Formats: sequence, C-alpha cells, structure tokens
Amino acid sequence: MSFPENFTPELVVESPGRINLIGEHTDYNLGYVLPTAIEKKITFKFKRNQTEKECNLYSLGYNTGFTLQLDKIARSNVEWENYILGVLNEILLRTDKLRGFNCTIESKLPMGSGLSSSAALECGLAFGLNELFDLGLSKMDIVQLSQKAEHTFVGTQCGIMDQFASVMSEKGHVILLDCKSLEHQQIPIHIAPYKMIMLNTKVSHNLASSEYNTRKRECEEGVAIIKKKYPEVMSLRDVTATMIQEFVETIDTTLFKRCSFIVSENERVLKTAKALKANDLKLFGSLLYEAHEGISKLYEVSCPESDFLVDFSKQYSAVLGARQTGGGFGGCTLNIVHKDKVNAFVEEATKAYKEAFNIELEAFEVQPSAGTYIQN
Ligand code: ADP
Ligand code: MG
Repeated sequence: MSFPENFTPELVVESPGRINLIGEHTDYNLGYVLPTAIEKKITFKFKRNQTEKECNLYSLGYNTGFTLQLDKIARSNVEWENYILGVLNEILLRTDKLRGFNCTIESKLPMGSGLSSSAALECGLAFGLNELFDLGLSKMDIVQLSQKAEHTFVGTQCGIMDQFASVMSEKGHVILLDCKSLEHQQIPIHIAPYKMIMLNTKVSHNLASSEYNTRKRECEEGVAIIKKKYPEVMSLRDVTATMIQEFVETIDTTLFKRCSFIVSENERVLKTAKALKANDLKLFGSLLYEAHEGISKLYEVSCPESDFLVDFSKQYSAVLGARQTGGGFGGCTLNIVHKDKVNAFVEEATKAYKEAFNIELEAFEVQPSAGTYIQN
C-alpha cells in the first residue's frame, strides 16, 4: 500500500448497519419493509490526494488495501474490492467531478451477519465522496447508485432496503418503506420496557448469495404465471392473499410456497407498523414469530442455528417475539425481550446454543439510530 493507514483526514463519515424489524425478501418484490439503522457502523476517513485518478483504499479489518485508477475501473477477483469499484463506477457514470483520494475503512459491524455491512460500505463511500468532491448527489441518488453497484459489480440482485435504511434512517424511528413507490414514513418506536436484542448465530452459510438470486428468480416465475390470469400484476406486491390461493393447484409447490410467503409477509409489515403505532407489543411479537415460521418453512432461507434460537426463545414469557433477520442462512436473530430478563435470557441461550452447536453466541442490544452522517 502506498499511503500510510494513519493520516489526518479531511472528512470522517459514519455509515451504519441496519436491522429490519419485519418484511424479509419483500424489497425486491416491491413490497413493504420496516428497517432502521443501528449504532454499529463503519467509519470512513477521507483525504483528497491531489492526483487526477489515483485512489488508495485500506480496510483495517482485512488489514489490506488496494490502489486503483479512476480511468481503469473493472471488476476485481477480490470480493470486497468490488463493492468499492462498483460504487466508483456508478459515480463516474453520473459526474465528472471525482478525483484521486485516500480512504481508510474501519468497521465495528460484523460482516455477513445480516446487518448489511455491504450497504454500509457502499453508502458510506458514496456519501463521503459526495461531500469531499461536492458531487451534487442527493441522498436518494446515493441509495440508488449503491444498490446498482451491488447488482453490477458484486452480482447480488439486492432490493433497495439495505441502502435506504443505511442512509435515510432517523434516530428513534423505524422506516415503513414502500419499495414500489419509495414513499416512506418514519415511525417513532417506543417499546420500553422491552429491548431489541440481537443474537448472532456466528454462522453465515455460503448458500446465501446463490440462494438469494434463486429466490428472486422463483418469485419472478410465480409472477409470470399469475400474470396470465391477472395481467395487471407486475410483481408479488400486486398479489393479494385471495388471489394467490387460486393458484394452489396450478403453481408448482415450491413456487407457491415462495409466493405465498411474500404475500403474507407484506401484510405482516403493515400489521406490524399499525401495532407499533398502537403500542401493541404483544401483537408485534407474535407477528415476528409468524414471520420466522414463513422464513423457515415457506421461503426456506433459515438454518438449524437460527431455528434453534427462535424456538428456544419461545420458552420465555419475557420474550414477546423473535425471528431471523437479513437475507438468511444464519446471521442474527432479533428478540424482543423484557429489560429485567435480558441477562438471564442471554445467559441461558448462550449455554444452550453452545451445547447444541459448540459455538459461542454473541448478544447485543440495538437501538434505532441515524443514517449515514459526517462525524464532527
Ligand atoms: P452483510 O451485508 O449482511 O454484512 P454481505 O455478504 O452482503 O453481508 O456483505 C459482506 C461483504 O461486504 C464482505 O464479505 C466484504 O466483502 C464486504 N465488507 C463489509 N465490511 C467490510 C469492511 N470493513 N472492509 C472490507 N470489506 C467489507
Ligand atoms: Mg449485504
């Protein structure tokens, strides 16, 4: 690496991870989601280096960096470099103001745990460069170009939720986002005396990326069949519970399971938003359990470790609800736990999880936090 890790930055940007209370795999089906940024984040330090084209990036977590030239952007064989290259490529398609810079990336956000370190990486970089070079991009531009970067350079056909939550969140709120119109509502969240506790399974089965793209294709196949009878249907978002039932005999069982999960998950997001507004925490919790059932049995993106933790939590009256969050096959479960019982619950879950899988569980509390911002 041709620049020191420790330099005096011109700009420091904090880019948070996110959790999604409910609405899994609904974003790329143009449905509803209910995410918020969390306090765990990636810190970017930036400095212009007075060159036309040379950019030096260093990830402290990986203890490695790379140099690139802005006029020679191409996909790399190194996975994490593609998040960076993809974002730069999208920025260059939109503006000619970008010049050489140095950047270090330091993360407190576990990777591949369903907290969307990928979106935090993309959006933090785009947000920082927008400030540093006065690129004139809006927050929505940053969200959309980051999503595009993941499609084109990383190869994950992700929806818009992760980037939207990472950039647009407000402290103390969750976002009810309509992924079709991009209309959104900030909903204040008051769940005291309960807390949101994440349990990190510490597994991320490498099925995640390939299965993600498979699920997306299965949903599209489902839409193509439904469309023959209902031409107005453009995505699973446009399908109602009554409509989907008409296809129980005619759609292949797997496709039917996938589609009916998405249709019911969209309804659950809207019910959850209502329950939170009405402070009905019991209903909120039961919707989380219902969602996990669908994630596990219908959409089939859970794993034994996540199922174990969600089932385990059901023994505790102090836990209102739990589900696996994120794309699937591991990552974290979200648990709504009474504040007086958090320690006991975590302790017992840790012990049971260790016995079952010989893995040390990691637990942490999350709070709805602000989206990407400049550190003063
Ligand atoms: P998630 O978004 O749920 O954390 P993903 O698999 O979508 O999981 O993204 C994780 C990938 O993002 C990592 O494998 C790595 O390529 C990249 N990444 C995340 N954080 C960093 C970081 N601090 N430094 C370098 N690359 C990172
Ligand atoms: Mg990701």
